[in-house]
Amino acid sequence: MERAKARKQVTVVKGGTIFTTKTKRGVVEDGWVVIKGGKISKIGTGDLKKELKGLKATIIDAAGKVVLPGLVNCHTHLYSTLARGIRLADYAPRNFGQCLEGLWWRLDRALTYEDCYWSALVGSLLSLKAGVTTLFDHHSSPYCIDRSLDSIAAGMSEVGTRGSVCYEVSDRDGQDRASLGIYENVRFANTLKGGAGSRIGAMMGLHASFTLSQPTLMRARDAAEDAGIGYHLHVAEDKIDVKDSQKRYRRRVVTRLADVGILSTKTLAIHCVHVNDSEIRHLHDSAANVVHCPRSNLSNAVGIAPVGKMFRHGVRIGFGSDGFGPPSIMDDARAGLLSWRIAESNPAAGWVETELMLLKNSPIIASMLLDTKVGEIAEGYAGDLIVASYDPPTPLDRDNLWGHLIFGSFKVDTVIVGGDIVVEGGRSSVVDEEKVFEKARAVAAELWERT
Ligand SMILES: [Zn+2]
Repeated sequence: MERAKARKQVTVVKGGTIFTTKTKRGVVEDGWVVIKGGKISKIGTGDLKKELKGLKATIIDAAGKVVLPGLVNCHTHLYSTLARGIRLADYAPRNFGQCLEGLWWRLDRALTYEDCYWSALVGSLLSLKAGVTTLFDHHSSPYCIDRSLDSIAAGMSEVGTRGSVCYEVSDRDGQDRASLGIYENVRFANTLKGGAGSRIGAMMGLHASFTLSQPTLMRARDAAEDAGIGYHLHVAEDKIDVKDSQKRYRRRVVTRLADVGILSTKTLAIHCVHVNDSEIRHLHDSAANVVHCPRSNLSNAVGIAPVGKMFRHGVRIGFGSDGFGPPSIMDDARAGLLSWRIAESNPAAGWVETELMLLKNSPIIASMLLDTKVGEIAEGYAGDLIVASYDPPTPLDRDNLWGHLIFGSFKVDTVIVGGDIVVEGGRSSVVDEEKVFEKARAVAAELWERT
């Protein structure tokens, strides 16, 4: 599955302002980063000749630009890329359940393998162009489940992104499809065994507590344990999830999941909007990874997650987009900061924490789940870098990058994933963008007809 056509023996980024380990404020001015075998092998300044002696190197000139580690999106739905601008005459949701029933579950039932592939390809490409080099996809296509993850992974790989895929198991389309979903996650995970060098990982996708019966949840858990994969599921996104869990299982959502045994360091617990103190303790004690998706939460009017409280309890929280476009995870960081402040009526709230969530926690989560160190420009880390144009109206130095990221606008010029140059001059360097977007528009138009 590893892409090879864009691979170079050695890739070097030279010049510019290199923010190496952002949370430690490491900066190298007019230096260089050498990537060998997909990983960062050396960072330095001065003469490069010695480093490159005898090697065939591709050199990216970053003079006058800013060099950053690639960003991470811990939760998205790539198929939602094909929903942009969709017209559904009778769609006027009054609550979260109607958002799912009226749009997303109608759309996912209409997906074909071709839709899966093209949505993954174009969604990944848009993410790369926004500086996201690693993404965690959560996929649903109930009428083409078997091998759907191959289509998603192929689309992601075609444009050179790094990430993880999973199929969202649910009983909402019947137990047979729930079983097929479990099988698909295990099947895909097994295809990766022994496949050293793949940039795509596997997880056990689960929709959410309120569409998962106890037998299905337990079968998914047993299958995931056998396959050695973690879980990726929506948790207490809306009150509907909490009410269902209390009514059917006499406990709240996080408690139910903890009791079944699916909360661990390998779990992505998406949203966690409606969690109480006891559940926050479960999340902390299990070391599960909470993924905050503020733009989605605001758009679906489900509430504002208690990120401040979770942070203070030591819960590890990263950021996800939940398929909300445009696919810039920076926009989620901004929305997260603003909604945090309004929720706590505190104009100073969340500044440091939001930076940590985006630039430290999300990469830590990705590194654990993908077994590859990402998110820093440091020796031994994956060669995932962004070179961005940025001409600030104020000084940019080692201590104020975060202020520039939140209030400024970086224009992504070059993106490198595992040493491969996948975006150059703001455009894909591995696929013909015009043809890709033309095809995606045609596929989307047909999908909308069927939805
Ligand atoms: Zn989601």
